[in-house]
Amino acid sequence: LHAPYDPHNIFAKILRAEIPAVKVWEDDEVLAFMDVFPQSEGHVLVISKTSTARTLLDIEPAVLARLMEATRRTARAVQKALQPDGFQIMQYNGEAGGQTVFHVHFHIVPRWSDRPLKG
Ligand code: 5GP
Repeated sequence: LHAPYDPHNIFAKILRAEIPAVKVWEDDEVLAFMDVFPQSEGHVLVISKTSTARTLLDIEPAVLARLMEATRRTARAVQKALQPDGFQIMQYNGEAGGQTVFHVHFHIVPRWSDRPLKG
C-alpha cells in the first residue's frame, strides 16, 4: 500500500495526454473520463489532476474534498443523461483491495434493476 507513486501508471499517462481518454468533465484539479472496460453503461472514473496519491490513505484532505464533490457532480450528470435506477460509487485500495491502477480514483457505476454488472 505504501509504495512510491509510479509516474508511468495509466492515469498519469492520460493526464499527460500520452494515451487518449474519453473525457466527461474536467477543471484545473479534477478529470472525469469513461472507463475502457465498463462494468455497466456509463461507467466513469474520477481522478485528481494535481495529486500523486496512490490510495485513499495518501490523499490530502482538500484534494479529497474536491475529488468527492466532482464525483458527485459527475454522478448527477450521468444520472440525468442515462437515467439509471441507481448508481454505485466504488473506490479500491491496494492489489488485495482490487486496485489495478495506482493513482487514486472513484468509480461511478450506473445500475439498472434488470441489468447485472458486466465482466
Ligand atoms: P481499479 O481496479 O484500480 O479501481 O480500477 C481501474 C480501472 O481503470 C478499471 O475499471 C479499468 O477498466 C480502467 N482502465 C484500465 N486501463 C484503462 C485505460 O487505459 N483507459 C481508461 N479509460 N480506463 C482504464
